[in-house]
Amino acid sequence: MAHCILPHCILRIALDTPLNSVFDYGWPHDQGSLPQVGQLALVSFGRREVVGLIVAIAQETEVAPDKLKNAIAVRDALSALSPQWLALAAFAADYYQRPLGEVALPGLPKNVRMPTTVALDRALKKMAKLAPPGDPAPVGMPALNREQQEAADAIGGAVGFTPLLLYGVTGSGKTEVYLQACAQVLARDPQAQILILVPEINLTPQLEGNIRARFPGLMLATLHSSLSEGERMLHWLAAHQGRARIVLGTRLAVLASLPHLQLIVIDEEHDPSYKQQEGLRYSARDLAVWRARQLAIPIVLGSATPSLESWHHAQTGRYRKLELRERAVREAVLPTVRVLDMERDKPKEGLTAGLLAALRQRLERGEQSLLFLNRRGYAPVITCEACGWISNCSRCTSFMVLHKPEHRLRCHHCSLELRIPRHCPTCGNVDLQPLGRGTQRFEEGLAAMFPQARILRIDADSTRKKGSAQEAFDTVHRGEVDILIGTQMVAKGHDFKKLTLVGILNPDTALFSQDYRASERLFAQLMQVAGRAGRAGNASEVLIQTRYAAHPLYSAVVRHDYDRFAGSLLEERRQAALPPYMYQALLRAEAPELATAIAFLEEARAILPSDAVTLNDPIPMTMTRVQNVDRAQLLAESASRPALQAFLKEWLSLLRAVKTRVRWSLEVDPLDI
Ligand code: ADP
Ligand code: ZN
Ligand code: ZN
Repeated sequence: MAHCILPHCILRIALDTPLNSVFDYGWPHDQGSLPQVGQLALVSFGRREVVGLIVAIAQETEVAPDKLKNAIAVRDALSALSPQWLALAAFAADYYQRPLGEVALPGLPKNVRMPTTVALDRALKKMAKLAPPGDPAPVGMPALNREQQEAADAIGGAVGFTPLLLYGVTGSGKTEVYLQACAQVLARDPQAQILILVPEINLTPQLEGNIRARFPGLMLATLHSSLSEGERMLHWLAAHQGRARIVLGTRLAVLASLPHLQLIVIDEEHDPSYKQQEGLRYSARDLAVWRARQLAIPIVLGSATPSLESWHHAQTGRYRKLELRERAVREAVLPTVRVLDMERDKPKEGLTAGLLAALRQRLERGEQSLLFLNRRGYAPVITCEACGWISNCSRCTSFMVLHKPEHRLRCHHCSLELRIPRHCPTCGNVDLQPLGRGTQRFEEGLAAMFPQARILRIDADSTRKKGSAQEAFDTVHRGEVDILIGTQMVAKGHDFKKLTLVGILNPDTALFSQDYRASERLFAQLMQVAGRAGRAGNASEVLIQTRYAAHPLYSAVVRHDYDRFAGSLLEERRQAALPPYMYQALLRAEAPELATAIAFLEEARAILPSDAVTLNDPIPMTMTRVQNVDRAQLLAESASRPALQAFLKEWLSLLRAVKTRVRWSLEVDPLDI
């Protein structure tokens, strides 16, 4: 109902508030033009003025006439969000069990939903002055190999909702496939827009550079968390107005307004970063698939190690599998992977003789090496050998990590910081020892052993300053680094041309994790980091230092055998009734005392009996205490997604009525349980 004949109508407006988030406001027609669904409106809410989203226009309301407030203004300078976009937000709210306003409004840039329109008006001017979008004709496209060409044609030529899994070994040229498929779609439809998602903000500049080089005349918008609010609004508007033909972004870009969206690309689709881990805990990958289905357009999910969910869909035929078996650069062969047995080859400064020899050889040849370690800091803990004291965090079930260059102990969970104690707090012993090794300690050891080498560490600590990560990666690309040591930040996507050795340090802890996804993740991570080596054609090596040299996971990495490994993991999941054969939701509770959290979960468990959904025993979370708060969880699971969804709706409405001081939240399709 977009028009009405009464002297006023009722605007149903979603606001970014918890609980019930859609509110009715009046709109007298003499106040201005007729509002439309999908427009933004300024309203008073409590004592504030806020911007909300018109989700419906009605003629009647249950709000008493003397209570009904009128909306203050409608933002008619900004064109309405499309019904499809509203449906996407509504689906996300419904599926993840959150109020609509909490999903729809944070999906819009802050400057667009400010009470004043100064920033918005300025941007809309600016936008109006921009040159019309140029010619999207690509330049400098390399000839594709046969598999790449088939894949690009399959994507570019797909009609209707077509989910495609682009399964290609690292370096097989997936990016070229995306770009050529994009070229086909852009050439076919002069308005077509394409959404490309990458898991990490660090990967946007590389791909952005590639896209700009190939499509010099095309308007590209980027959406990720390190844009300023002003930039974000301009890019968002460029997408919303249909000017930006390609939108490149991280997970939050899945909610971009794209009126002419024709193709979605999800690069590294297996990456856990696609899952938002707070607030609305959505999976950008899953929402993207839903969006593609809704719009009846193709979507490509690319990976060398697809998630088991996507792999399963490809096996059952729901996704079409496109395979790239070889590296694209003819001389570039996959690296040789070897396992170095730390039980036999005892490490010195954490490095086995085998790895040291390989490093030395690279230095002599002037080639680059990468050492990968998923542990930042100098040492994960310090200890007193006299009395056994260890540096526990006083607020969390975790240790204070030694950060030597910063002269600090830091908890990575609550960010508590302390000066390094001069002596043991319990017995006064001055000889406190670091236990274990993080990136800083390896860096120190390497500098002592290879004084002539140029060593660079890249981790969250070394790249705190804005832009410093990019600067560090550029240094590597320019060949000004001999040995790069880094965390997962360096493992993904980067195309380091001079790298011929990858050393993987201490991956073993993940083998014995309680998390059933740990081995899937470790495998993906190892393949990913291994894939950084030998991309330009030099013979290259990956060396894995382990105490479990015979573990089947490492054997699979040695053989580059994702297929078989994924097959056996899927079989395990089937037998154990785990995802993707089971649908899960996790209710989390936080309280100052563990017993309070558990008691709440017990109550939640009893509140709604169900045959279709299993409610497991409440248990403390593995990391039970964080910042003086204890955390527990209850897992709900069902073999039927609709049954689980129906249950969650009813369950939540009952839970919301429970009077409790426990803080609780629900996550649908949790990744970490
Ligand atoms: P992936 O994303 O699959 O790991 P990339 O897309 O980064 O692989 O490609 C690896 C390298 O191969 C890049 O340097 C890219 O420029 C090059 N490349 C890809 N396709 C071709 C091709 N058809 N001809 C020549 N080089 C190519
Ligand atoms: Zn002591
Ligand atoms: Zn802590």
